[in-house]
Amino acid sequence: MLSPLFLLSLVGLSTQLVIDKFASPDSNALGNWHGCDEGDGITCTFGSGKLTVKATDTDYSFYTQLNGGCQDVTGMNSQYLHVKISGSSDFSIALQQNNPSCDETLSPYPQTWDIVYAPDYTVNGDIYVPLSHFNINKQKAVGFAFKAFRSTTATTFSLVEIVTSLPSGRTVPAKKPTGPLIFQCTRPNSIAFGIDDGVPELAQRTMQIIKDAGIKVTFFTVGSALTDPEGNFTAIYKEALDRGHQVALHSMTHPKLEGLIPASKIDQEFQQSLSTVQQKLGSRVSTKYFRAPYGTDGALTRQKLETAVGGGSRVINWSIDIEDWLWGESSTPEKQVEAVKRDIARGGNLFVSHYLYPSTVEYFPEFIRLAKATGKQIMRVDQCLEDPNAPPL
Ligand SMILES: [Zn+2]
Repeated sequence: MLSPLFLLSLVGLSTQLVIDKFASPDSNALGNWHGCDEGDGITCTFGSGKLTVKATDTDYSFYTQLNGGCQDVTGMNSQYLHVKISGSSDFSIALQQNNPSCDETLSPYPQTWDIVYAPDYTVNGDIYVPLSHFNINKQKAVGFAFKAFRSTTATTFSLVEIVTSLPSGRTVPAKKPTGPLIFQCTRPNSIAFGIDDGVPELAQRTMQIIKDAGIKVTFFTVGSALTDPEGNFTAIYKEALDRGHQVALHSMTHPKLEGLIPASKIDQEFQQSLSTVQQKLGSRVSTKYFRAPYGTDGALTRQKLETAVGGGSRVINWSIDIEDWLWGESSTPEKQVEAVKRDIARGGNLFVSHYLYPSTVEYFPEFIRLAKATGKQIMRVDQCLEDPNAPPL
């Protein structure tokens, strides 16, 4: 009995694996889950073996999975993802990597992904991306995500497959460098606070709580805050640097970077942010470390950051969300504490937090207590990622 793959090679076809033909809204051609994020930012319509995606927000994605847990695709590294589309190609394609336990109930899930910009690989509706352009642990692949749709024009998908070779005459571009997207500390027994934007009225109290706890943290600062004379943030972050905290980038004006049109505005955000922190805070700022506003990720953001900082960039997301954006001003602010407990229980060890609301700041000693109660050591993000350039613990 000849294997199906052998028969395919006999007739000269190069299809290795059909992943999705959009025949059903619930599952793909492999029998695995596929679907869109829930919410107002995306509309996904299935019909006649096609999926049409219309998105108004770059945070929303469509996913088609290779496996519910982990799929080893290391053997396909010299092969190509082929996607057939019509309509806009102005979106990103990610290959997602699961966490070490291959368990979607743990945090983070997924562990990370690498990402490419679809227009770079599209000719007449055929997208070919070498799997080698996705720099992840390919023993732990989850599946592909089509995300960060930048155009109001819809995209219609009709096929996702892996092929062993390119059509004759077809070439692919070189991989554009991207820094890693990080959700988790790697140093054993480490836990870290990444603290983003805040309001001036709550800055001193936040700094005092951190000082009283005797911990070192990482602040991601918005460039425009440093240029606002009313806010005094330049003095606040200078003092933070003096106290041994890490200070890093959080864009210039805090937009969803990936959605900026034209894309040159993304470059401007990075350039202005870099020049502002260097001018106001000097050379001690960790300019290779960046937290994206809203955690929004896309290929353009990662490629342009990598270029702007001259290589070695790290995009720092999180695996513990205090959910201040959800509960900080609600009638149940204690749910911020519940959120921290939940994410710690799932294995998270990298916080996202702000000092925007009085309730968040009042719970900050409790967040620190919960972090310490894990038995892990609280440290700066660069230290928890074992960066050789980080100061010693
Ligand atoms: Zn922010």
